[in-house]
Amino acid sequence: MSSKQKGKLFVISGPSGAGKGTICKKIIDETDVKLSVSMTTRAPRPGEVDGINYFFTDKEAFMKEIREDGFIEYAEVYGNYYGTPKAEVFEMLDKGIDIILEIDIQGALKVKETMERGVFIFILPPSMHELRKRITGRGSETEEVINMRLSQTLNELSYIDRYDYCVVNGELDEAVNRVKAIITAEHSKVTEDIKTLIENYEEEKV
Ligand code: 5GP
Repeated sequence: MSSKQKGKLFVISGPSGAGKGTICKKIIDETDVKLSVSMTTRAPRPGEVDGINYFFTDKEAFMKEIREDGFIEYAEVYGNYYGTPKAEVFEMLDKGIDIILEIDIQGALKVKETMERGVFIFILPPSMHELRKRITGRGSETEEVINMRLSQTLNELSYIDRYDYCVVNGELDEAVNRVKAIITAEHSKVTEDIKTLIENYEEEKV
């Protein structure tokens, strides 16, 4: 394949608690795809590390980043700000590295406006009952926050038509395999690079 080939941008989103974070972590561990680290004004949860899970910051620094046009997209999610830093993502794509953005649905729709070649994957929970169980099991959110997140979920599901793929996360390994299959399929598409390769075949003497 030509060295001009750029990395692919995979946008993984879906309701909070659907398991997109866990799926993305396995994809990162088991493939060459890299995760874009977002900036957030949310406080770190136990075990989260600055620069690995998120760049944790305050509202003032986040607003400065917005003014300086530093984000591909940003959104206010459940009272906190989250944004995808622009420079790092474009740099990695230019180097031919595949990137995953694990972002909320509002953010994904904004990315779709500007990055039309992105691949949009929606992660669904197997049921609303299971979703509540998963969010409650985290133990990090109050009952009020859990109810707010669940009531947003049904509304969020109405955007599924804007996505290219949908993966139900019932059994984790099965969902991870499906996302890997999507990544492989996207790399098998007929592109300009493949057309160049075929032109080279024609020039070869056989
Ligand atoms: P959490 O607080 O549970 O880590 O994330 C809350 C929500 O924010 C999740 O749906 C997560 O995918 C989303 N999120 C994380 N980073 C970003 C980002 O950079 N932009 C947007 N729009 N959403 C994000």
